[in-house]
Amino acid sequence: MIKNASHRILLTTVCKPYGITTKDAEAIGMQMELLNNQLTREQHVHSPRASFWTFPLYFLAENISVPATVLDFPAWREFKRELTHGYTHVGLSFIQTNVLKAKRMAEYIRAHYPATKIILGGYGAGLPDLAALVPHDAVCHGEGIRWLRTYFGDDPGAPLRHPLMQGVVRKHVYGLPGNSTDSAVIFPGLGCMNGCFFCATSAKFGGQYIPLLDTGRSVFEHCREAEGKLGVREFAVIDDNFLKMKDRARDLLREMERHGKRYHFWIFASAEIIVEFGVDFLVRLGVNAVWMGLETQADIFGKLRGIDVRSLVRELQAKGISVMSSSILFMEHHDRQSLQADIEWAVGMDTDLHQFMQLTPLPGTPLYEQYKNQNKLIPEFPYTRLSGQNALAFYHPHFRSDEARELTRAAFRRKYDVGGPGLVNMARTALDGYERARQDVALRHTQGLAWNAETLRYERQDGGAEDGYMLGRVNFLYQRAREFRPLLLSAWLFSPNRAVRRKCWHLVQRHRRVFGRPSARERFGTGLLVVTATVEFCRHLLCRAMGREAVIRQPASRRFEYVGPVGARQKAVHT
Ligand code: SF4
Repeated sequence: MIKNASHRILLTTVCKPYGITTKDAEAIGMQMELLNNQLTREQHVHSPRASFWTFPLYFLAENISVPATVLDFPAWREFKRELTHGYTHVGLSFIQTNVLKAKRMAEYIRAHYPATKIILGGYGAGLPDLAALVPHDAVCHGEGIRWLRTYFGDDPGAPLRHPLMQGVVRKHVYGLPGNSTDSAVIFPGLGCMNGCFFCATSAKFGGQYIPLLDTGRSVFEHCREAEGKLGVREFAVIDDNFLKMKDRARDLLREMERHGKRYHFWIFASAEIIVEFGVDFLVRLGVNAVWMGLETQADIFGKLRGIDVRSLVRELQAKGISVMSSSILFMEHHDRQSLQADIEWAVGMDTDLHQFMQLTPLPGTPLYEQYKNQNKLIPEFPYTRLSGQNALAFYHPHFRSDEARELTRAAFRRKYDVGGPGLVNMARTALDGYERARQDVALRHTQGLAWNAETLRYERQDGGAEDGYMLGRVNFLYQRAREFRPLLLSAWLFSPNRAVRRKCWHLVQRHRRVFGRPSARERFGTGLLVVTATVEFCRHLLCRAMGREAVIRQPASRRFEYVGPVGARQKAVHT
């Protein structure tokens, strides 16, 4: 397309409400909350609540020359009002399950602003019958920045500008609003080359990895800029397999050590690459939490082959890294016995948080193609139910489609009954990590062991000095472990059973042994949380009585305007 000075684009998510059944959407699995929706489902009052801004839209707006507005989580009336500002283009980003919401929005645009071009993007843009469902003029498949630049006549190969973004809309822990500006997000790259047959992310980017920040230095510089401008040192790394670009990960640590900086990261990584780096590397890098796919105990996935997953999980947790794991239910080999065995296996891993996801043939994945060719897809299965938490979208030899929902829910309940609240597990991991790091640093000093950045191991070196870099990390681990302390009484009070109550109490006692008597601030925080947790518990009971699975919270809306050239875009924020 030729550049046109009159172009103006609105980039928007689908409209609220989320997690509520309407004629366009299902409630199950559709809250805009990863933690409550999937990782701590069935943990009611213990479930930390947080929504995350729709980062790709900000990335797009920051990297095109056309004036752009990002509308995140709008209500219907806000969406309608925004259109009155006059846009030549509207970009609608949505996932498959929200296709009917996108349809309603697109139809409204067509009816009231027929000259406006509609561009569709996101995972929903890969639906095979999209043309019949959602009116549109163009579809963005794959990586969106270069696509949109090409569309508007910008240089697709121009350097990318990574926006500075705090990630969380708002968060609540035991009903108490928390600080949502203490962390930021980084998008180092898109896609994953592991190519698991069910994986929509891998399929969307053609089994390729597309780096957006391709060196350790560029990741480091982004962290440093975020620290300077947003005051954050903790980052959620939105990259499906961050460690896969090995040089980038190594160089990131080198840069942090060279500048005496310690940033902290939540990452996604598969087991085989964690083993290759070694857990000590992750600890030194500042990884607080890692999301690792466990999938199934059956020998199907190369990323898990030959790995003692249980020992790996134990080592990560012992060294202070929370493990968020995930497994797939209703795989082809599952019958009732082996499904239950896989659930018990996953629960027995005792990871901090665990997601049970149903095998879901999402359009575009190898699984979808295979099941389509084998006539295994249930005809006319509603896209709104493709959340992986609802009914099965295919004929399974041993399970009915409509029984999957309750079986999945029961799996979450089992994890909660046996392992207790995810927050308690994270508190335990944080305390383990602090104690272990303190001991390890002292022991290595005594033994003359120092970090070798080439071998990524601690090795004997003559005249070994104190490891100042890790001592700084120990201080952070101390702070982090103590942050969980005020939560423990509420966790104990609302425990699901005696075993979990004992686990909570044991942790309370360990905190007292390690940190001494609670400070006045900690005692105040503990009391306040008991009050807010009690209120939250009552709200939860009320919601259950109304037939809802959880307390539903809608994320706030936000509007960002972007004008000016790429690299120096001026933003105006209206929340
Ligand atoms: S390792 Fe994870 S992100 Fe990569 S293809 Fe497999 S499921 Fe997808």
